[in-house]
This record gives sequence, structure tokens and C-alpha cells, in this order.
Amino acid sequence: MFSERLNRLIPYVPGEQPKDQQYLKLNTNENPFPPPQAVADFIQKFDYERLRLYPDPTFDKLRRKMSEVYGVRPGQVFICNGSDEGLSFCFYTFFDKKRGRVLFPRHTYSFYPVYCDFYELEYRRIPLAPDFSIDIAPYLAQKPSTGIIFPNPNAPTGVLLGLDRIEALLKDYPDDRVVIIDEAYIDFGGRSALELLVKYKNLVIVRTFSKAFSMAGLRLGYVFAGEPLIDALFKVKDSFNSYPVNMFAQDLACTALDNIGAFRANNIRIMENRDWLTEKLMELGWETLPSAANFIFTRKPGCRGRDIYTGLKERGILVRHFQLPGIEDFLRITVGRKDDMDVLLVELKDF
Ligand SMILES: *Cc1c(COP(=O)(O)O)cnc(C)c1O
Repeated sequence: MFSERLNRLIPYVPGEQPKDQQYLKLNTNENPFPPPQAVADFIQKFDYERLRLYPDPTFDKLRRKMSEVYGVRPGQVFICNGSDEGLSFCFYTFFDKKRGRVLFPRHTYSFYPVYCDFYELEYRRIPLAPDFSIDIAPYLAQKPSTGIIFPNPNAPTGVLLGLDRIEALLKDYPDDRVVIIDEAYIDFGGRSALELLVKYKNLVIVRTFSKAFSMAGLRLGYVFAGEPLIDALFKVKDSFNSYPVNMFAQDLACTALDNIGAFRANNIRIMENRDWLTEKLMELGWETLPSAANFIFTRKPGCRGRDIYTGLKERGILVRHFQLPGIEDFLRITVGRKDDMDVLLVELKDF
């Protein structure tokens, strides 16, 4: 009854979304702040009768809005049903087994190997530097490869790679292979690679409304790249599903972009809470990596990550733990509101 392909699938496991009890949820990097009032107003005024119609398959209005806000041409924008879908399309579009392996960091977003398996691509995980940053040298030394992908800042470490390093990578990497920067967390203090788009035709930037825009439930992502690459993504989209992004999400995103300042104000608060939390944890003897994201990656020397994860869960706090060699004692903790961080610190003091 089932295909052989299906038998080989190993799906991605998202962070727990528990339904049994109320937790302080610091495990999936959701934004602790609701979207601004303009979003509520949009929802109130949305003309439900329009739902009869199909949404715009080429996202014209939203791409024009993106173009105004981000200073790119509309033809350099692709819209997708969450950035996960955009990433999946990118793997299909740009990576080819015949041209070598896909390269990504040893510790990174765990969906990348899942997409590789799905599209029957080979990959190599490149070790992080001892300080958990991304070292570009081994990516260039690996030959041949079909492309490179990593988040910036990286997940689950939160560590940012400087734009100078990204440019050094693009300079020395073959220009007929793509470098994909997954900028899911770039709005929490990092510098975007967007400005490099004019110079590097093989650069692809993937973004999302899930984290910095407080709308993980909306399922909306976007991709910036040169026109030929964006056209190729449309070709793939139109071979899977002509209408992956619903009308409501497309219009709501326009409203969100009109009010981008309000989102930024929330994200500045998150960054302040992050820096405050990092400092407090360091005082308590927790080794905490420098984060440019809305989460921190931290460990307490002498304590097992698994035990702390379980202990916190018993006390109603959910964080993310990865049982993987090299990071098994770290916890990834989403930065929340200040009072939530106070509650967290009280519990962490016990370890
Ligand atoms: C959260 C996350 C995504 C997925 O975002 P969606 O737009 O919600 O699909 C992609 N990449 C990284 C690194 C993430 O952490």
C-alpha cells in the first residue's frame, strides 16, 4: 500500500506543543508579545465574502509591499506558507545530488537533514568552531558541494556570523551554487545579508513572520534572491500547489509591514530581556553563548541537560533540549517577558 519513499522518511520533530497543562512555554521561540493593534483591526474589518475567491497566486500586492519596506524589486521576492515551505522549495530548486553534497553546520536547524532525505540529497555536517560559531573555511575546503545553508544567527546556538564572513564565503564560493542564509532570527540584533544581494547572484535569504512578527500561527515566510532564482521557486511552487498562501495571510502581512515599527519595539524589549537574562545566568555560573536571537543556549557545568530539562518541566517550565553529542548539556530557552524570565531564574537557581 505504501511507497518505498514513504518507508524511508524520517520526519522533523517540532518542539512540544503540550495540551495537558499550562506551561511557561519557552521551547519553540514564539514571540511572547501579541502582534500590534493594527493586526486586530485588520481581522475585525476583513471582508469574509472575499473568501469565495482564490488568493493571488503571484502575491503581487504583498511583493510590492515587501519591495517598499526592504528596498528590493518585487521580482526578487517569493512568498511561502511559513519559511519551512520556502526552505523545502529551495532544497528542491537549488540542490542537486550530481553536483555534490549540501553543506550545513553540525549543530543547526534539524529540518535541513530531513529535507535532504526527502529530496534524496547527500549532505555533510561541518563542525562548529570551539566557541560554537560558524567557521567558513571548511565549507570552502569541501569540494565539490552543491550548496550551503545555515541560519544566521545559527539555531540552536544563537551565535551570529558577521556579514564580513558571509561575504568572504560568497567571494570564494562558486557562483553557480547557492548559499542560503536562513534569517529566521535576524531581527533580534543581527545584520542581514540583504545588502549583498546586488553583488552575489547565488545568494538566497529566507525569512519568516513566525518569530519577529509574532505570527507563527499565520504560517507565512518569504525569500529574497535574484529574479532568475525567484522565478525558479515559482516554477516549483506551481508544480506543488498554486495557492499555498491564503488571501487572509497575504493581506494581513501587508498590514503588518505597514506597522513594522510596532513589531520592532517589541523585539527591542526581547533583546533587552535576553541581555539581562544572559548576564544574570553568567552571575549564577551558567555558561551562556552570546545570542543574537530571541533565545539563549546555556549550560550549567556539572549538570546534565536532560536532568535540568526534566526538572523544569516538572515545575511547569518547558524549554528545548537536544540529546546530541557536543550539545547534550545545553538548553535552548526562548526569551520571554521580563516577569516570565524572573520565574525562570528562580527555578534555575536551584541547579
Ligand atoms: C522557526 C524557524 C524556521 C521556521 O519558521 P516558519 O516560518 O515558522 O516555518 C526556519 N528556520 C529556523 C532556523 C527556525 O528557527
